Order: sequence, then structure tokens, then C-alpha cells
Amino acid sequence: MKDNNFAIYNSLTRRKEMFRPIHEGRVGMYVCGPTVYGDGHLGHARPAITFDVLYRYLTHLGYKVRYVRNITDVGHLEHDADEGEDKIAKKARLEQLEPMEVVQHYLNRYHDAMARLNVLPPSIEPHASGHIIEQIEYIKKILESGYAYESNGSVYFDVPRYNADHNYGKLSGRNIEELLSETRTLDGQQEKHHPTDFALWKKAAPEHIMHWPSPWSEGFPGWHLECSTMGEKYLGETFDIHGGGMDLKFPHHECEIAQSVAHNGKETVRYWMHNNMITINGQKMGKSLGNFITLDEFFTGNHPLLEQAYSPMTIRFFILQAQYRSTVDFSNEALQASEKALQRMLEGWKRLQSLKTSEDSTVADEVAALEAKCYEALDDDLNTPIVIAHLFDACRIINQVNDGKAKATEADVEALKTLFNTFLFDILGIKAETGGNDAGAMRPYEEAVELLLSIRSEAKAKKDWATSDLIRDRLAAIGFNVKDTKDGFEWSLK
Ligand code: ZN
Repeated sequence: MKDNNFAIYNSLTRRKEMFRPIHEGRVGMYVCGPTVYGDGHLGHARPAITFDVLYRYLTHLGYKVRYVRNITDVGHLEHDADEGEDKIAKKARLEQLEPMEVVQHYLNRYHDAMARLNVLPPSIEPHASGHIIEQIEYIKKILESGYAYESNGSVYFDVPRYNADHNYGKLSGRNIEELLSETRTLDGQQEKHHPTDFALWKKAAPEHIMHWPSPWSEGFPGWHLECSTMGEKYLGETFDIHGGGMDLKFPHHECEIAQSVAHNGKETVRYWMHNNMITINGQKMGKSLGNFITLDEFFTGNHPLLEQAYSPMTIRFFILQAQYRSTVDFSNEALQASEKALQRMLEGWKRLQSLKTSEDSTVADEVAALEAKCYEALDDDLNTPIVIAHLFDACRIINQVNDGKAKATEADVEALKTLFNTFLFDILGIKAETGGNDAGAMRPYEEAVELLLSIRSEAKAKKDWATSDLIRDRLAAIGFNVKDTKDGFEWSLK
């Protein structure tokens, strides 16, 4: 562990306590995951990448991290108040699919997009639909505590009653009087005692196809409940970090706090972290605005607003060029600038591999300072743009040495390689996107393929066709395309 690894606590929380893993020796981290009824879009990419970097960084610092990211596959009452029907159920009805087929279809696509963005899978990915029993038990306890009531087969959280004893709105800084005047009329309002009350259990309408038995009715759990229930189940009654998009602060996370206080008598989450939102050409993303671009459309360039395709690493780099609490605005110009910047960065890395070294150094102090500066930036509330700026400083040094304007020793070059490996590849999670001969951040399997193919090249040079063909055919059989080129070979995954 690095000496400075407690600093992130102060910076993430702006408080002066010690960051200590509190549940089974692990840092518990819960992030609100996707609702799976459509293809992943930029709104999915930002929290996934932000908390991926935090997960990678905490792990790098030596913490054991249990990272839970849920799948919302039931109870979209709050999301879909406008349409009045659960979107998964609607899609299932229209396309004559099992609701879980719809969920699985979009979940597979989500996982695929996340893998392309080099987002590590979480430790646990619980489904709301797989935790109905736990959610029912959780509701029973809130009913016992007196902060919920049953009404016509549904169960609602009693916000005014809770607010009389505790502070509803503390996270978002809202007060209940203000909420009262803002709250619009919702479906089923007459069942509620108060417009701010929210559903813990909702009786299913006859046409509603996703429902489960409960002591109150055939129905489904409220959306806010799944995160409180599954967070506590996997991370304990108190855990360290809860993350999500800024748009979830209210009401979702506010409701989670109220639920856990009603359930346990105390708050569950020690630190809340919210990433800011993404706009497109200065506008909010939305289906009705015609600027709703899915991740697949970004990767293929297949959308009228896109001038070209943008690779997953360009998207990732672009998101990391902003600190997670600031807004990000997508435009073709901005993405093209990111694409070029990332190219420059990876060229610096490539140049570093064959940099000429000297006996003496003119850059040693500057090189030595970069590592500490990168840690300092990450400790300062995951300030990824500053880390990127320091890595560009490293590129500048590399170019100066390459142009003969500065001198670097073998040790300087090693330190620079460590810097890129640690910060650009391991923590920021950037990878070189082409398989094959690129000198980017190769994963072990890629190195193994390169090794096999260089043995094949040697065999070919000796006219040992049997070995050469054997290597190519066996690689093809396990899913690699190998192509001979003028300069040697190229390969890719089929
Ligand atoms: Zn949530």
C-alpha cells in the first residue's frame, strides 16, 4: 500500500476522518446500475466509467473492494409515471417475449458495451427481480417501525411522519414544504396519504405481467427499495461508498436514506458520490429531442448527429478528460479533439518503448515528480483531467528526449513506463484498441499471441511450414484471425 492512500478519504468526503474498510475487511461500494429496457447510452457510460476508475484506484491502493452494481429489472414505477406501464413489461407484451428475455437481451448488450469501454465487471451484480423476498422482509420491518402504511394492497413510505423524527431531504438539501408544492399528481395518488409518500410495494394492475405474491397483494416492489435491500444484503448495515448519477440524488437516494433509517435506525451509507450529467451539443439527452445516441451508434458512427464513428477508448478518454462532478458536453469537435489527444498519448507510449537512453539525465527530477503528482490528483476527488495533464507532461519529456533536446537514463525510461502502466492503463483503464502489432497496453493473452506469432515468423524464415501452419491453424481454431502482411503479421479476434 502507498503511504498516501488515506488521502482519498479526505478528498472524497471533505471530512477529516480515517477511511477504513468497515465490512468484512472490505471497502463496500454500491453503484446504481442500469434499467435494462433499451440499449446503453452515454448516460450509462459516465457512471460506469467514473466508478470503474474509483474501483480500480482503490484496488490499486491495496484495498479489497466489494463492488456491487445492481440491475433494475422490476418496478419502474417512478421512471415511467408518464407512460403508466413498466417499459420491460410493455416491450415484452408488444414483442411477445418473456419479460426476462427482454432483460437478458439488453443486459447482454450492456455487458458487451461495458467490456468495450474497458469497464471492469463489478464483484456482484444483483437483479432486483432476484431479491423479492428480501424486499418484502425489508418492507415488513419498515411497517413495524411505523414509517409505512398499507393502502389498497400497496405499501407506502410515510414521508411526513418520517420527517417529523428525521430529516427527509438532507442529501439533496430540499425541505419537505418545498417538495409539497413541487410534487405533481401521480398515478395512484389517492391511495397515498401525502403526495411525497413513495411506494415500497405496489399492487399490480391486472394487465401488469411482472408481479409477485406478498402479504399485501400480487404486486412488485418500488424502485428505491431494491438498492437499500441489496446494498445491505451484500455490503452490510453500514458501508463506505454509494455512487450514481446526479439525477439519482433526488428522489432515489433520498428515499434510500429514509428507508435505511426506518429499517435500521441509522444511515447505511457513509459517503455519497454523484457524477454529473452529459449533454449533447449543450442539450439534455432525450428521445423526444432526437439527440439520444446509443453507445453502439457512437462505436459505429451510425447516427445523423455523428460525423464519424468514435471508438470506445475515445469515449472513455473523453469522459475522463472532465472531473466527474463537472458537466460534460458531447459534440463532434470535442470527440475529435479527444481522439487526437488519445492518439498523441499512445504515440508517446510507443515512442517510449524504443527511447535512446544516456548515462546522464536532464529530466530525472521532473520524471520523478510525476508519480506523486498523479497520486495527488487522484486523491483530490478523482481529478482525472489533472492526471491526464501530467501524462501529457510525460509525453513532452519523451518527445524532447526523442528529438535529442533532453537526456534520459534507463531508470528514467523505466519510471516513465511505470507511470503509463499505473495511471493510463491500470487506473484510467485506457487500452490500445487494435490487437496486433500496436505497442499499447497489451494484456497477457495479447502478449501470448504475439509471442506465438513471432515464433511462427521464425519458423517461416527457416521454411518450417509445418510449425508455421500449426500455429496459425490452432490460433484460428480458438478464435484468432491471423493475416500475413508485408512487414510480418496482423491478428485480431474473430
Ligand atoms: Zn439505486
